[in-house]
Amino acid sequence: MIPSPLSSVTLDGRDFLIKRDDLIDPYLAGNKYRKLYTLIKTPKERYRKLVSYGGTQSNAMLALAALCKEKEWSFQYFTKPLSERQKGEASGNYALARSLGMEHYEIPHEYYKERVASLRFNLDESTIVVDQGGAAHLAKEGLEQLACEIKEINSDIRSVATPSGTGTTALYLALALPEYRVYTTPSVGDALYLKEQMRVLEMIPKNLIILEPEKKYPFGKPNREFYEIYQKLLACEIEFDLLYAPLMWKMLLEQTSEPILYIHSGGVSGNASMLERYKALI
Ligand SMILES: *Cc1c(COP(=O)(O)O)cnc(C)c1O
Repeated sequence: MIPSPLSSVTLDGRDFLIKRDDLIDPYLAGNKYRKLYTLIKTPKERYRKLVSYGGTQSNAMLALAALCKEKEWSFQYFTKPLSERQKGEASGNYALARSLGMEHYEIPHEYYKERVASLRFNLDESTIVVDQGGAAHLAKEGLEQLACEIKEINSDIRSVATPSGTGTTALYLALALPEYRVYTTPSVGDALYLKEQMRVLEMIPKNLIILEPEKKYPFGKPNREFYEIYQKLLACEIEFDLLYAPLMWKMLLEQTSEPILYIHSGGVSGNASMLERYKALI
């Protein structure tokens, strides 16, 4: 594979190098590309069906839909019930994933946990279940590939940053880059919760540093500070996602001072529906 390209931005007087994983593919990009790398390389004959579950704004959902379309696998996706607003959205990840052939199943709240826990019961050989957000050991190989690309960059930078949801990306990247610092931020819940999720997968290495905001930012809730950072970056001609990236950038600006390589984690396709929600705020 050809390494993803590099760009640079100057933000608040500081230069940052950006690893443009967002440019890998329109839908199957960013860290979802890295996390699904093993499946992307899997011959299409290996499976006939992929099953997953999680949020309906999710970038992982869209990446899986794109993967299944390419592989000609059917894609079943389980979620909690959708709001009417979301069902009607003509843009954003949900609409895109449906257009790529995703079969969507809404599970009532009271049965959701049970249903998800039962997805692996009586699985046949030709079906694969991918956990929420693609959080699995499956992610390791693709992130090792990213680590190799980072080591080949001709630069003295030894600090990289990427935002966390489940923490899978930051964790496997830190494990594959012991000679680098890997900064991340908890987007969903606090640092303690993020560490719990990471520990389910592997021991957390010392070079992984979680930068935590003083204030809580509810996941997915539009806020002015995030929008300002998004706009500033857009003025540098790079679009970042509105869910994860703004907090990571804010923490880097406030809590670090050394040169940093930012790993663009993708997710820009979700901005259309997020920007709709931002309209009320701006
Ligand atoms: C999914 C996602 C993340 C979080 O990745 P994890 O491996 O779950 O921590 C970060 N940024 C973007 C844009 C994403 O889509």
